[in-house]
Amino acid sequence: MQLPAPLEAVLYDLDGTLVDHDHAARLGVNAWSATLGLTGDQWERWAVIERKWFTAFENGEVTHLGQRVERCREFIGRPGLSDEEALAMYEDYLAVYRSNWQAYPDALPSLQEALGRGLKVGILTNGAEKMQRAKLERTGLWLDEMVMCATVELGAPKPQPESYRAALAKLGVSADRAVMIGDSLANDVEGARRAGMHAVHLDRTGTDGASISSLDELRWP
Ligand SMILES: [Mg+2]
Repeated sequence: MQLPAPLEAVLYDLDGTLVDHDHAARLGVNAWSATLGLTGDQWERWAVIERKWFTAFENGEVTHLGQRVERCREFIGRPGLSDEEALAMYEDYLAVYRSNWQAYPDALPSLQEALGRGLKVGILTNGAEKMQRAKLERTGLWLDEMVMCATVELGAPKPQPESYRAALAKLGVSADRAVMIGDSLANDVEGARRAGMHAVHLDRTGTDGASISSLDELRWP
C-alpha cells in the first residue's frame, strides 16, 4: 500500500501491530488460571473480559489501573476483591505475559525503514509508558530515535482526539503529514482520520484489499 506524500512522521500502534500481544496474553492467562485452579483454555473468556474493560478505559469510564482491577475481579468471579488484592493477583498474570512478549518479524525492518528515510517515528499506544517501553526493549524493537507516546502519560487514550493531538505535538508534526498504522479500526484508523491524519489498517488475519496483512506491504513515498 502506497503511503501518502509529503510525509514527515509515522505513528505505529504497539500491541497487535509490532508485538504479538495475544500470544503472550494467552500463555499468561492460562498459566495464571492453573494457579487459581481453573482448568482448560481460559483465553476466549479472558479476551472478552479484557476487551470489555479496556474499552471502558478508552471511553474514560475507568482508569488504567481500574480496568486491571475490574478484569481481575470479573475473571476470578470475586467482585469483592479490594483493589490491592486484585492488583496483587494480576501480577501472576503479568509475570508470564511479560516473559512471552515477541516481536512480529516485519516490525523491526519497518521501523528501520521509516527512520532510514528520515521520517520521525512515534509509538502511539494505549498503555503505560513503563510497560510499553519495556515491551519494545525486551523484543529488540526499541531504537533511540523513536518517540514514545503512551496514552496513560499523554492524558487521553485512542480513539479520543486529544491522544493523537498530543502525540503529534510531541513529534512536532502536523496531522496531514503523519500516518497512523495499527490493527484497530476504531483506534488506529477511524480515530486517526477524525484527527486529520492518514491511516493504514493492519489486519494480520488476511486482507480485504483496504487493509495490509503485513508491514512489508507498506510502500514508502
Ligand atoms: Mg493494537
